[in-house]
Amino acid sequence: MQHPAERPVLAVDLGGTQIRAALVTPDLVVHCRRATESRDEAGVDVVISRIVDITAAVRDDAVRRGLPAPIAIGIAAPGPLDPWRGIVLDPPNLLDWRNVPLADEVAAALEMPTILERDTNVAVTAEWRYGAARGTRNAVYITVSTGIGGGVINEGRLLVGDHGGAGEVGHVGVEIDGPICGCGGIGHVEAIASGTALARDGRALLKSKGSEGLARLATTGIEVDAELVARAASLGDNACAALLERAWVAIGAMCASLVNLLDPEVIVIGGGIAEHSPRLFEVVRDELRRRALPTLRDRVRIEPASLGGDVSLIGSLPIVNERIGDPAYRREPQASRMAITQQGAPHS
Ligand SMILES: [Zn+2]
Repeated sequence: MQHPAERPVLAVDLGGTQIRAALVTPDLVVHCRRATESRDEAGVDVVISRIVDITAAVRDDAVRRGLPAPIAIGIAAPGPLDPWRGIVLDPPNLLDWRNVPLADEVAAALEMPTILERDTNVAVTAEWRYGAARGTRNAVYITVSTGIGGGVINEGRLLVGDHGGAGEVGHVGVEIDGPICGCGGIGHVEAIASGTALARDGRALLKSKGSEGLARLATTGIEVDAELVARAASLGDNACAALLERAWVAIGAMCASLVNLLDPEVIVIGGGIAEHSPRLFEVVRDELRRRALPTLRDRVRIEPASLGGDVSLIGSLPIVNERIGDPAYRREPQASRMAITQQGAPHS
């Protein structure tokens, strides 16, 4: 490790459906783990108060158990966000979030310095420092689940970009006339290969009576999602198999573009869909052979992620320890903009 992390952090992972929090110690043990629903439909203030409550509960648990005190709070949140000002900008995965000063709100409520980073940047940092990309200087991390996200390590540093938005690999264009993405762009890989896109295309197949397998599985009360499409494909449904194959080719095309652009040593692929799709890795390797520059494609490794669902907690450990002394990132406790109500600790 180039920069050994020295102090524990209170790590928070804010997702569209769930908030998770834990104390992460430098030996990478995740202590006092808690989770609660995000309830973003209830509004920004409610979500923030739930983050504050669950983080306070973890902190209290850690004190009771005699664990070492955290140096600060690290929040992993959906992008786009501004990591320097600690502001969540306008994430498609959180309802009605526009320019929310999340780091300042949490710092004020819990009276601890707080650092905010995009969830996928936290994840790539974890895989690079401790996981499948360990020991490399140039690495890409891709998560394939409900959406497609990622992060880039370039020359031994997290690639942040001019506005904090670098590494949004899900919005790489792979079809010039392709479907419209959730972000409004055309032909992005997320619009073709994400869980959301597979569910959409599966529903269309069902509606057009294009898949007998889906029709058999999608009985009353069962919704078509990416998992059902995958199940139909595994039971021999050709239309669903073709849908998945097209998605994996789109991810392979994106990976080829990333190889040509960034010349990484390794591309690490994780996320709920990737974990259950060994065929994805075969197709990505095939597409690299078809689409990437010969001198680069023969050297790049394609690896499954190794840290599982905890990447977005564990990655806050090195990020917080590195940035805590950097006034460009560190958000100090100040008076709260919002009146945050403490509603008691959520259950784990
Ligand atoms: Zn997009």
